[in-house]
Amino acid sequence: MFNFDQAASTPVHPDVIRTIAEVMQARSGNPSSIHRGGRDAAVLLERSREVCAAALGAPPEDGRIVFTSGATESNNLAIKGALLGRTDGRRHIVTTMIEHSSVYESCRQLEDFGFEVTYVRPRTDGTVSPESVLGALRGDTALVSVMHVNNETGAVQPVGEIGRRLKEADARVLLHVDGVQGFGRLPLDLARSRIDLYSVSAHKVRGPKGVGLLFVRRGVRLIPLLSGGSQEHGLRAGTENTAAIVGAAKAFRLAAEGRPERGRRLGELRALVVSEVRRHEGLKLTEPAETAPHIVHFTFPGLKSEVVLHTLEELNMLVSAQSACAAKTEKPSRVLTAMGMDREHATSGIRISLGDLHTEEDVRLLSEALGRAVSRLAPFEGRKR
Ligand code: PMP
Repeated sequence: MFNFDQAASTPVHPDVIRTIAEVMQARSGNPSSIHRGGRDAAVLLERSREVCAAALGAPPEDGRIVFTSGATESNNLAIKGALLGRTDGRRHIVTTMIEHSSVYESCRQLEDFGFEVTYVRPRTDGTVSPESVLGALRGDTALVSVMHVNNETGAVQPVGEIGRRLKEADARVLLHVDGVQGFGRLPLDLARSRIDLYSVSAHKVRGPKGVGLLFVRRGVRLIPLLSGGSQEHGLRAGTENTAAIVGAAKAFRLAAEGRPERGRRLGELRALVVSEVRRHEGLKLTEPAETAPHIVHFTFPGLKSEVVLHTLEELNMLVSAQSACAAKTEKPSRVLTAMGMDREHATSGIRISLGDLHTEEDVRLLSEALGRAVSRLAPFEGRKR
């Protein structure tokens, strides 16, 4: 099987597996215990925090790293934590219609509790204009949440420009960025950005599942979603998974260090996949103005995503339809619908996502499989719905 669904998850790096096993064996203490067993684990935890801060380009004086169970939790904490922590009466959020479900549903839930949310529509290419985000600001806006890279289409959002203009317009509005698909693939310099809250997930960059982090800029007040002990700066109660966190920190460091080379390599492989998709008349490439190097998205109007996905699976190629978190729904993609696609297009999206271990030969085999799938399926176009 060839795994071309690396935006959903990535193979854990062998060094990370080794590190996790070593820490599990040698450091079984609870980092909150005050005896030596606890202190030894706490030292590893704090060192991991420093490693992660460096990987994000954020010096310790800029803010804090809060370890979570993944980016879903980081996004929930950023959004609900910020709104519930607000004491100045600001109860409005600006976000986009194409955010990951962990952002989107957090906003929806806050609406049930009386908060107000504006969901900005993207352009037809899947990018969001800074003007539309800025235009949605109100006097009572507390937070803007825009993802760096869309997990379905790969569209890169102008979070740098949004941050600069947002702070000029109203410095009291917080900016949250879901950086899950951007981190390790696109340049990031948190120190010089205007981002207040930034979420990432270890398993998207060859780390373990179940570990994520939230960068919280100095001075930003959040309410914890999990109450209990004072772990994680009082923002996330519960005994930390020291071994997995140390492994995740290693994965984040490797992802940051290898970023320029990875970005170049993935970009080259992406260009090969794109030229293959373009060769087939029935396939419609989704072409955002700026794209992440690891994602290719196309639609096969007339055929449901699942049919194409399973045909490729029979040919040993794993790809995805919508994001993994939405994959089990039959509905048209929320993201593609927001981009203005009709039902026929929005139910036929396919995402191919590339990773570190892919070679040109793998991409050649994928291209062949794609060609075979298209010729197998073309006679059924329009009849399968
Ligand atoms: N945001 C984006 C953009 C994602 O792609 C994902 C993973 N599907 C998440 C958030 C959630 O991350 P996790 O799996 O760590 O909860």
